[in-house]
Amino acid sequence: MKNLPSQRPALERLLAPLAPRELDDSPGSGDPEWLFTDAWRLLVRPGAEQASGEVIEKFRRPNGEVLHARVDSDNVSVPFDLSEAYVNYVRERWREAVRPRALSEGQLGLYYKVKRFIPRSVQTATRRVLARTQKNPEFPNWPLDDSVHRLLRFYAKCLLLAGGGAQLPFRWFWPEGQHAALILTHDVEGEAGLRLAVDLADLEEERGLRSSFNIVADWYPIDWGIVDELRHRGFELGTHGIHHDRSMFASRENFEAQRPQLAAMAERLGAVGFRSPATHRVVDWLAELPMEYDCSIPHSDPFEPQPGGCCSLWPFFLGDVVELPYTLPQDHTLFTLLGHKSIDVWRAQVEDIEELNGLAQVLSHPDPGYLGDPDKRALYVEFLDFVCEREGLWRPLPREVADWWRVRDSEDELDPRVALGRARLDGDAVVFEPPAHGSSTAETSAYGAAS
Ligand SMILES: [Zn+2]
Repeated sequence: MKNLPSQRPALERLLAPLAPRELDDSPGSGDPEWLFTDAWRLLVRPGAEQASGEVIEKFRRPNGEVLHARVDSDNVSVPFDLSEAYVNYVRERWREAVRPRALSEGQLGLYYKVKRFIPRSVQTATRRVLARTQKNPEFPNWPLDDSVHRLLRFYAKCLLLAGGGAQLPFRWFWPEGQHAALILTHDVEGEAGLRLAVDLADLEEERGLRSSFNIVADWYPIDWGIVDELRHRGFELGTHGIHHDRSMFASRENFEAQRPQLAAMAERLGAVGFRSPATHRVVDWLAELPMEYDCSIPHSDPFEPQPGGCCSLWPFFLGDVVELPYTLPQDHTLFTLLGHKSIDVWRAQVEDIEELNGLAQVLSHPDPGYLGDPDKRALYVEFLDFVCEREGLWRPLPREVADWWRVRDSEDELDPRVALGRARLDGDAVVFEPPAHGSSTAETSAYGAAS
């Protein structure tokens, strides 16, 4: 009997191999702890280790003990649960283990009480000093963390060794063999930002690009003429909370009270996506949003009031909600807080994400102080031109990525846009080979049929 996608192990769901294989990877019963290889780390409950077999990877525990993943004929054993490691990344459960540099609940509450009364220039100056003097945390790596990528490649290696085959076909990450995807998203912070949104829309449309604009329901006067214009021009509207504060995630009661208001605002906007104000979040509640997708979780962002990250360059499911992590440093972080005068970091990040076949998601703002400033807008134009030149980069709307991720995950008849990539061993390393560009696999049997 076939499992529904949501019942499959989380990592199997991410890779979507045509023929999943059994691995011996049971979790232990103790508390989760960090395990380290030479290149990466993961948080798991260490379990029992097989005594025999060839060692394929070593994992160091904090107490110095070394655990081994082994292969013995076709049996691969891993001393922890691979999907548990994945879930601990993407649900940010690792935060409980490292306590990132964040404000406490009480400090955050106070900050938001007084924030409205502090001039914006003072707020920015303070954050700028903090951003430039703070040392980046050890984990997740910033601006790029490839933990989930390394875990997925290790998982693919285990499947390859367990099956004995030279290659493992899996549902490629992006439609029609595209190498990577890129989406442009904007959070509109105020009335002036909404007026300036039209300028950004012009710049993007001139280059054949479209983006999303996320609007706050009850924080500034909304010019519905502009909203309608953006929609008619093919831009996406999204929700950016009811109030631009942390109130929705400050308590369960607030969350439940604001949810119907959010649904009503989404209906009015024709929106299916949500980004939380200032990316405040309780990850486990995001699954209950009345939305098709959320984009509040950073891939890695130590600069937000709630720092952290899911370490993933791919979308993932939180219940029925598709999470689209934002994966580039925010405009405000890069150009205002850190004072960069070039797009070098953005450019390198997109190139790295292409290399890793992930989703590049840009989070910027049309408002004054952000891309509303001429110098920063000029950098954005340079970035748009750079993006347009990239080949093999799929450039859809965010809602189209969410739709695609469901299609790729679906148990139904294989969508003609789904093409098969291949994982293959190259020496000790696993490489993910994309399908030929533009290809699809309408002729291939459905997912899991070979198992
Ligand atoms: Zn915002």
